[in-house]
Amino acid sequence: TVTAQQTKTGASVEFRGLRREFGEVRALDGLDLTIAPGELVALLGPSGCGKTTALRVLAGLEAVDAGEVLVDGTDVVGVPANKRDMGMVFQAYSLFPNLTVRDNVAFGLRLRGVAPAARQKRAQELLELVGLSAQEKRYPHQLSGGQQQRVALARALAIEPRVLLLDEPLSALDALVRTQLRDEIRRLQLRVGITTLFVTHDQEEALSIADRVGVMRSGRLEQCDSPAELYARPATAFVAEFVGTMNRLPGTVAVGSASVDVVGERLVLAEPGKHTDGDSVTVLVRPEAVTLAAASDGRAVVTDHSFRGAVTRVTALLSDGTAVLADLPSVAAADLVPGTGVDVGFGTQPVLLAS
Ligand code: ATP
Repeated sequence: TVTAQQTKTGASVEFRGLRREFGEVRALDGLDLTIAPGELVALLGPSGCGKTTALRVLAGLEAVDAGEVLVDGTDVVGVPANKRDMGMVFQAYSLFPNLTVRDNVAFGLRLRGVAPAARQKRAQELLELVGLSAQEKRYPHQLSGGQQQRVALARALAIEPRVLLLDEPLSALDALVRTQLRDEIRRLQLRVGITTLFVTHDQEEALSIADRVGVMRSGRLEQCDSPAELYARPATAFVAEFVGTMNRLPGTVAVGSASVDVVGERLVLAEPGKHTDGDSVTVLVRPEAVTLAAASDGRAVVTDHSFRGAVTRVTALLSDGTAVLADLPSVAAADLVPGTGVDVGFGTQPVLLAS
């Protein structure tokens, strides 16, 4: 059996064929996405791909030209924003400057007619949850950016929304606060169990916070999978290049379009049969798939050696002028200093071709 609390915090969300046009621009072009109860899905993609529009459509702040938005199976298109029970946090600090921290958090409860004593209590609980109890009597301008966003989060959660919507909530913060608050948001989200849509253009942020990451391109979902799956098995070259770093290497298709030759090595194609033997193509290989072994008569020479802690990124220049990035365990890369001759391998995983 499901308790009232659980149904409230763990709504399911489904976008079906969402379309939204602004003049000539198709902001959403047939967007389909399902979010399970309690799941955190991050929408990731380049600027203008429609992430914010999708979030605003779910919030009820943006109309659609076609499609359905189901929350717990009920179409909410046409339901006004203030009747949708959505908690929102935006990039820009959107606290009320003339209200104390506690009154900011209690604001939505006041609108809903919750009695003063009950809303004070609830606001205090939420401030405790985000670790800001001691600041409850302060005003927003007396808080750091990270603290203000935590208040915004407490305010969004105070009304016990059915879904939490986060639109680039960390992008105005500096790097350290950003990663700290990111981890805090995730802990809080898991603890409350609230279904969450998180919009970001930062791939590291998306991969580290989400249950699943939806990569958007031109108003559609290109792929939606767990971070590990997305990284290891990108469905398209667009996803492969958008998530993580890729070497782009010149290759020639061979063996009945099942393989590709890259500087003397034959690699298996992840999507065979798409080309004709002899075609010149661009092959995508992750830096961590590349192996380098010192060899005085090797086919490449090390040109750069960049220590990054556990991993060292080594750049090797092939005889045809192609630069290859290799991420190696630092212990194995210690001797590969610039000038060292090396043999280069590209691993055994099937490879994608750039589109
Ligand atoms: P960003 O990361 O830059 O915020 P995004 O992926 O969130 O981008 P959206 O803000 O959803 O993208 O915008 C998608 C497209 O729709 C863009 O081309 C944008 O210029 C356009 N667009 C969005 N809102 C409007 C509007 N109100 N009027 C006109 N065009 C709009």
